[in-house]
Amino acid sequence: MANENTLQDIIGHCKEYGFVFPSSEIYDGLGAVYDYGQYGVELKRNIRDYWWRSMTQMHDNIVGLDAAIFMHPTVWKASGHVDNFSDPMIDNKDSKKRYRVDHLVEGFVENLDQEKADAMIASMEALLAADDFAGLKKLIEDNHIKCAVSGTCNWTDVRQFNLMFATEFGAVASDNPDDNKVYLRPETAQGIFVNFLNVQKSGRMKIPFGIAQTGKAFRNEIVARGFIFRMREFEQMEMQFFVRPGTQKQWYEYWKEARMQWHLSLGISPAKYKFHDHLKLAHYADMACDIEYDFPMGFKEVEGVHSRTDFDLTQHQEFSKKKMQYFDADIDPETGKAFGNYIPYVVETSIGLDRTVMMLLSEAYQIEDLSTEEKKDDRVVLKFPAFLAPIKLAVFPLTKKDGLPEIANELMNECRPLFKCFYEEKDAIGKRYRRQDAIGTPFCVTIDHQTKEDNMVTIRHRDSMQQERVPISEVKNIVMHSLQPL
Ligand code: ATP
Repeated sequence: MANENTLQDIIGHCKEYGFVFPSSEIYDGLGAVYDYGQYGVELKRNIRDYWWRSMTQMHDNIVGLDAAIFMHPTVWKASGHVDNFSDPMIDNKDSKKRYRVDHLVEGFVENLDQEKADAMIASMEALLAADDFAGLKKLIEDNHIKCAVSGTCNWTDVRQFNLMFATEFGAVASDNPDDNKVYLRPETAQGIFVNFLNVQKSGRMKIPFGIAQTGKAFRNEIVARGFIFRMREFEQMEMQFFVRPGTQKQWYEYWKEARMQWHLSLGISPAKYKFHDHLKLAHYADMACDIEYDFPMGFKEVEGVHSRTDFDLTQHQEFSKKKMQYFDADIDPETGKAFGNYIPYVVETSIGLDRTVMMLLSEAYQIEDLSTEEKKDDRVVLKFPAFLAPIKLAVFPLTKKDGLPEIANELMNECRPLFKCFYEEKDAIGKRYRRQDAIGTPFCVTIDHQTKEDNMVTIRHRDSMQQERVPISEVKNIVMHSLQPL
């Protein structure tokens, strides 16, 4: 269940060791916006690259795209985001604090026993599915759910609140502010939909095929909490897979399984994951589930797999008056004729990059008690899989003299082009090891006086803390061998 201390420890650790900083911190930060520091940015990039490779390199029928963040305003009318991209909210009249209804109820049930909690979540989901706002308000009032700030049950009606950020485009001022209005995209998917035929034709893609994209998305989240779990500016990694109508169920099951396998390849135990099927489907979906991970705050969504039907492409065809059809020359065994023209169905996988960073931090962060009778000693270590670790190898000359830094630099020069290395000659070796543990570096190598005699170095393994003597010429291979996904 919830472990607020672990979350606070991770947040503190991220700041202290250069993973994540609050945005504009010297001005007291900006709500739910964060900056990635020197190690955070490497970790994030490694995850993004791994996802990208697993989509575009490991599937011959998936190609990449990098669409602009700004899009024609009609895109968001067609996609339904202008009308539907909203969450039911409720305000406390005394504190003026606004809550997402589902978050308010979820927070409340944390203190109930499991049976009561499950029953209440089930009622809430049924009411959400039916858009029954009066029922939701009654649920909150009947259970005397209080505002955490005012401590009262004095609630407004439940209302919808649109989550898109809008801004103005171009320099021309107009009397009607809507004329120049553009939105910051709340999901990357629409860039893929509007380019579907560009990619299909220029790449001569045959259905089934996918288009993958990573990039920023923006949502004016009302209740932004949980560190980089829920941000107002975040990054998504999405893949839209275009399929023949009628085959979407089969592909939905395929991608559910394939995405779970990807998660397990991060070295995370299956017990830390579960699927959560959606009862309330988004306006575009006919099947949808979340992949949930057991965060310090409990099981929460890290990725969504959605069967989006032909909703988006049909809408864009209607609003743009441009055909969004694909010609399928394959023969339908039932009719003996080509499948012909149709608007494809889409199965998408959509994962938050920042949430994945947070998942990996939650998984990797450990405090090990290495105390002896003489001395209390806690080791803080980030046990990332080596292929995702920000730094792969740290190189330490034992001293700053006697030619040891020169040998260390030779090793750095050999390894630097292949993976990220870190060089340090200050402080005792033990201290240097601990600093690398704290940022998750899987290997440290120490060059000592003996190295000059026999070309052997000490390699120290982060997780076991085992040390072994190996030829210096072997170090590069040892690290390279560890860089495969699990
Ligand atoms: P939630 O229910 O948590 O608001 P969602 O169901 O709205 O998420 P999707 O629209 O399916 O999320 O977006 C796909 C993925 O994008 C999510 O699984 C999540 O990893 C990520 N994501 C969505 N909103 C945010 C956010 N505000 N901050 C960070 N990541 C997010």
